[in-house]
Amino acid sequence: MNWQTLLSTTPASDYINQKEDHDEQIKKAINMIKEADAILIGAGAGLSTAAGLAYGGKRFTDNFQEFIDKYHSPYMSDMYSAGFYPFPSEEAKWGYWSKHSMINRILPEAMPLYQQIYTLVKEKEVFVITTNVDHQFYKAGFKDEDVFATQGDYGEIQCAKGCHPKVYDARELFIRMDQARKDCEIPSYMVPHCPVCGGVMAMHLRCDDTFVEDEHWHRQAQRYHDFLKRNKHKKVVLLELGVGFNTPVIIRFPFEKMAREHKNFSLIRFNLNEAFIPASLNERSVGINADIQKTIHDLLDEWEN
Ligand SMILES: [Zn+2]
Repeated sequence: MNWQTLLSTTPASDYINQKEDHDEQIKKAINMIKEADAILIGAGAGLSTAAGLAYGGKRFTDNFQEFIDKYHSPYMSDMYSAGFYPFPSEEAKWGYWSKHSMINRILPEAMPLYQQIYTLVKEKEVFVITTNVDHQFYKAGFKDEDVFATQGDYGEIQCAKGCHPKVYDARELFIRMDQARKDCEIPSYMVPHCPVCGGVMAMHLRCDDTFVEDEHWHRQAQRYHDFLKRNKHKKVVLLELGVGFNTPVIIRFPFEKMAREHKNFSLIRFNLNEAFIPASLNERSVGINADIQKTIHDLLDEWEN
C-alpha cells in the first residue's frame, strides 16, 4: 500500500502532467485568478525554498559551520536534519534553535516572492493555509486573521510536554541567546522552563502529539472553515504553491477533494516537479512544473496583457 491508496482519493493512474505549453498555462492561470471571487492559498516548503530560504547548501554551511565542526554528525547536513540532532543538553539545544530561528524567522525580511504573491491576490478575498513556520506570509502583508499556519512558528516556544495549551513569543529570548552563545551553547541561566509544570520547553513545531494547538491556532482553524463555508457557491481558486508529499493530507489532498466536489472551484498547482494533477480536473486546473519564482515572474509579466 502506498500513500495514494492510503490517503488520496485520487487513484495514482488518474494523475497527469498537463500537455498545454507554458504560455497557455500562464494565461489560463491568470484568467482563473482574475475571475475568482475568492482565493485560497495553500503553501508548503517548496515555496520558501523557491523564495530563497533554502535549508541546505551554502545557506547552511555559511551560517552553521560552527555546529558542523563541533558535532561531526550526519544530522548536520542541512537545517531540516539538524533539528533532529540529539543535542546533549538544553544549553546545546537552544544554542542551535536560537540560531535556526535567527536565520529563518527573525532576520529575513519579507522575501520578494512572497511579496509578489501578495500583490497577485491582494484585491481578492483571500485566505492562506500553510505548513510553513517561517512567518513569511505575515511579513509580506497578509493579515494575521487571514493566515492559518498549521504546524507552528519558529518564533514561538511551548512546554515540551504540551502540559498547557499556550505558546510563548520567544523572539527576544532568541536574540539574547544569539548574542550570548559560545561554542554552540547558551548560558544555563537562559534555558527556558515551563511556567506551569517547570519542565523543559520546546520549539512550537509540530513533530508529535505534544504540539500545542492554542487559542489562536483554533481561531484560525475556524476561520479556514468559515472561509470555505462562505465561499462554497462562489468562484474559488485553490492556489497551491510548493506543496509536496511530506504532509499531503493537510493541503494537497484536501485541495484535490474540494476541487472535485465543487464545480465552481479551480486548482492552480505550482511545484518544482510535482505539479501533476488529477485528469478529471484537467479543464479546471493548471499544473506547472517549474521554479515557482520563475512561474510567478512569468505570471506577473503577462498579467497586464
Ligand atoms: Zn509544562
